Amino acid sequence: KKGILIIGAGGVSRVATTKCAMNIDTFEKITLASRTVSKCDEIAKEIKQRLNVDIQTACVDADDVLQLVNLIKLVNPKIVLNVALPYQDLTIMDACSQTGVDYVDTANYEHPDEAKFEYKEQWARDEQFKQAGVKALLGSGFDPGVTGVFCAYAQQNLFDEIHYIDIMDCNAGDHGYAFATNFNPEINLREVSANGRYWQKNSEGVGEWIETKPLEIRVDHDYPEVGVKPSYLLYHEELESLSKNIKGLKRIRFFMTFGDSYIQHMNCLQNVGMLGIEPVEHQGVKIIPIEFLKTLLPDPASLGPRTVGKTNIGCIIEGIKDGIKKKIYIYNVCDHQECYKETGAQAVSYTTGVPAMIGTKMLYKGIWNGKGVFNIEEFDAKPFMDELMTQGLPWKILELDVD
Ligand code: NDP
Repeated sequence: KKGILIIGAGGVSRVATTKCAMNIDTFEKITLASRTVSKCDEIAKEIKQRLNVDIQTACVDADDVLQLVNLIKLVNPKIVLNVALPYQDLTIMDACSQTGVDYVDTANYEHPDEAKFEYKEQWARDEQFKQAGVKALLGSGFDPGVTGVFCAYAQQNLFDEIHYIDIMDCNAGDHGYAFATNFNPEINLREVSANGRYWQKNSEGVGEWIETKPLEIRVDHDYPEVGVKPSYLLYHEELESLSKNIKGLKRIRFFMTFGDSYIQHMNCLQNVGMLGIEPVEHQGVKIIPIEFLKTLLPDPASLGPRTVGKTNIGCIIEGIKDGIKKKIYIYNVCDHQECYKETGAQAVSYTTGVPAMIGTKMLYKGIWNGKGVFNIEEFDAKPFMDELMTQGLPWKILELDVD
C-alpha cells in the first residue's frame, strides 16, 4: 500500500489536495476522486501548474460502498481522506474497514433526511476498524479538528484540570454578496437554523445538554486582531466528543459570529420554508427546498477571489494549574486573501483543508497510532500543534484574567 486517496473535490478538497502536494515527500502518491471527475481534473491541473506535482484523478459515487471498495483496491492507498460531504462518512468508513485502509474525515455523519448530526454511528464502527487492524480519525478540520487539538494540548501541557471551554469561531470575511454561505449551503444552513445546545454538569455533577432556541444566546466577543463581533451559541459536533474526553469538565459551549444581514436573510428563508429538507411538489416535480436554494446561491468555491478580511477561531479555556486558577485563549487568525493566493480557496476552506492534511500526515507517518475509531483529542496534540505552525495555521496563546 502506498499514497493517499482523497475523496471529494470541493473547496476543502482544493486546499487539502494542494497541501498534500506540498508534502509530497510524506504522501508519495496522490489520487483525487469525486462524483464529478472534471472538478478533480481542474484541481489536478492547477496543482501541476503551481507545484509541479502530479495528481491522479478518478470518478466515484461515494454513496456506493462497492464502487468505493473497487476504487480503493485499484489505487491501493495507505489512507483515505474523506472531504466529500458528511452524508458519505459511513459508506467511506465501511469501504476502508473492508479493504484494511486508514480513514480520516472532517465532519461527522449527518443523515440526509434528519438534519441531525452525531458520532453514534461512526463510533459504532470501532470494533469493525479494530478487527481490520486499521484506524479512523474523525473530525480533522478546524472545528471539529484544531479546536479539539487546542483542548487536548491544554489538557496535556497547560492545566491540571480543565473546567470551562468556550469555542469561539469568527469569520469576519466580506464577500460583497447580500447573502452567501462560506461552505456547502445545505450543511451550513442546517447547522445554523437548528436549536442551540451546550453541555454542563448539574449540581449533582451529572453532565446534561441544555437546549436553546436557534440563535437565542448572543454575546459580543472581542476577537484578537479582528475586533468585537456578535456571536451566537450553536450546537457543534465537537461538543459531543470533548465533553467525554476532557476529564473534569464542567461546561463546554460553542459560539459563531453572524452578521445582521446573514441572520435577516436566513430568518426570512426559514419563514417562507426555503430551508426545508422534506420534498415539496412543484408543478408535478418533487423538489427539496434547501437543495433548490443551493442552486440559487453563489458556489462557495467562487467566493475565494472576492472575500477579504480575517477569521479567528479559538478556545477560551479555564481551569486549575498547580492549585491556582488559570484562563487562556488559544487561537489562530487567518487572512482570506492570503489563503486564496496560496491555494485558490478562501479561509473557511483553508482552515479545514490544512488540518485535514495534517491529521492524515499524523496517521500516514505513524506518529499517531492505534486500532479503532478515534476523535482527534485522543492523541498527543504536540506534533499536530508543531505542524500547524509550519503548514499555514500558526497559533497564539494569551493568558487572561480569571473572573
Ligand atoms: P463542497 O460542497 O464544496 O464539496 C463537496 C465535494 O464532495 C464535491 O466535490 C462533491 O461532488 C463531492 N461529493 C458529494 N457527494 C458525493 C458522492 N456521493 N460521491 C462522491 N463525491 C461526492 O464542500 P466543502 O469542500 O465545503 O466541504 C467538504 C467537507 O468539509 C464537508 O463534509 C464539510 O461538512 C466539511 N467541513 C468541515 C469543517 C471543519 O472545520 N471541520 C468546516 C467546513 C467544512 P460534486 O461536485 O459532484 O457535487
